[in-house]
Amino acid sequence: MNERIFFEKKEKAGLPACAGESLLDLLYPRRCPVCEKILLRNEPLICGKCARELPWVREPFCRKCGRMISDPSRELCSDCESRLHFFDEGRAAFLYEKGIRQSVDRMKFQNRRAYIPFYAQAMAAAAAPVLPVWRPECIVPVPMHPKKRAERGYDQSVLLAAAFGSVTGLRVEPTALVRTRYTKASKMLGRESRKKNMRGVFAVNPEIRLPDRVLLLDDIYTTGTTMDTASRALRQHGVREICFLTLCIGRGEE
Ligand SMILES: [Zn+2]
Ligand SMILES: [Zn+2]
Repeated sequence: MNERIFFEKKEKAGLPACAGESLLDLLYPRRCPVCEKILLRNEPLICGKCARELPWVREPFCRKCGRMISDPSRELCSDCESRLHFFDEGRAAFLYEKGIRQSVDRMKFQNRRAYIPFYAQAMAAAAAPVLPVWRPECIVPVPMHPKKRAERGYDQSVLLAAAFGSVTGLRVEPTALVRTRYTKASKMLGRESRKKNMRGVFAVNPEIRLPDRVLLLDDIYTTGTTMDTASRALRQHGVREICFLTLCIGRGEE
């Protein structure tokens, strides 16, 4: 994993800072997405202390969904052993815990869109070993329902996909998937109820011509129900290879 990028200082080409830029820095200082400390001009997208403590997903992890497992002799987590998924493979950058969990919650519920470039960079680092294998032809975000987006003012998956696209140079199709039903939060539901809750939630936008290989993008992978539902919709629409990338993944049961 290319974690080096988080320790590199921002390169400045020796140019004097323009007045407008420093004024902006004063008014809206960049903050570390984990501890919220104000970042200095030459610091990267995260402070050094938090960069060293990031909860990266590490080996051994499930070859299918990317969830960390404790037994290195196993290929799959117990979830992927016991059921089939509609996606081919997926990876996540971080475990959904420690400061990252709070960071993502602030990004979603307290309008911290400024964290997104850092998240995209982390996702690109996590995906670097698999992107040449997956060779996705475009990125499709797992979208919110339009009503929810209107309430929040933005859709974090769409913003993540745009930022990830600009880091990797991959084409983004932000409107390829549409959420057709406003679902209740499924956090507290069991797997079966979750499945029911999500059934037929996504439709493929008929105006978008999708390629053979698609990379789905979302902020968190928990039980995989959302990712499966989205993958199923794409597959029914003729997409052949579907991989996914998320910023975070839960530990799940093993
Ligand atoms: Zn920090
Ligand atoms: Zn798995």
